[in-house]
Amino acid sequence: MNDDKRFYTFVFAPTAKSPLRKFNVHHRVIYSVLAFAGVGMLTVLYGAYLIAQHAVVVARLNLTQRENRQLREQNREAASRFDLLQTRLTALDTTQRKLAEGSGLSRSTDISRSVGRGGPGGAEGAGGESLLNLDNIEIATEALESELQHIKVAFDKNQLRLASTPTGWPVRGYISDGFGNRRNPFGGGGSEMHSGLDIATNHGTTITATADGVIIFAGMYSGYGNVVVIDHGYGLTTRYGHMSSIDVSVGQHVTRGRKIGAVGSTGRSTAPHCHYEVRLHDRPVDPLNYLSIGRS
Ligand SMILES: [Zn+2]
Repeated sequence: MNDDKRFYTFVFAPTAKSPLRKFNVHHRVIYSVLAFAGVGMLTVLYGAYLIAQHAVVVARLNLTQRENRQLREQNREAASRFDLLQTRLTALDTTQRKLAEGSGLSRSTDISRSVGRGGPGGAEGAGGESLLNLDNIEIATEALESELQHIKVAFDKNQLRLASTPTGWPVRGYISDGFGNRRNPFGGGGSEMHSGLDIATNHGTTITATADGVIIFAGMYSGYGNVVVIDHGYGLTTRYGHMSSIDVSVGQHVTRGRKIGAVGSTGRSTAPHCHYEVRLHDRPVDPLNYLSIGRS
């Protein structure tokens, strides 16, 4: 197959006066040179591509390093805020512990243990530890919320109890007769049990409820004359006797300080006064013990 005689003829003149020179090059040589040139070009292109790629990688690396620095900075900031959060939670826990003790509640959980750094379970690196502690903070927050709910219920109960406990004077005046055994004020000798406190003052002076409650009686009742009976719950009732007028009716809810009537001398009475009675489970107790409640 060596009979391929295709040649390329090149003609050129080295100078203007010299004769033309001419030489032949076999077409295979030409193709080989072109092939080499092509491969060389591709190699150069590939090299350029590699260099460009390297530049991109370096740029990315720089970007990543910058991001890393920012992340480390943010991490430090988050860690310090996290510490602050833990401190605040611990402080909250202490406050709540005091509140619970004040409300007579026993604590069901110990929050400070789960708030503390490096809680149970250990940690896998710094990231793992902070994640773990975030879980703890979440648990501690939920426990605090539930404990606070208990305290609120106890507090509301106490509030209700306080509002329902007879406090202070039903009417301004002076005590003309105390609770307990006394001589019969209507004469005839002998003694009787006085079931309340007599507070003497002018006819028509306003009488107010000494605690929140519901009117369970309002009207005439033998020796009491015009009387109002309030049920305060917790086994407590109060009675206000000898009224000249009554301002409330049975079933009505009253709050402490609400006017319920006026001083009079109806029933078994010798002069205008309010017969004030406090009963615990329907047994009269000394109202004097209730007059000063809440007044210190
Ligand atoms: Zn009396």
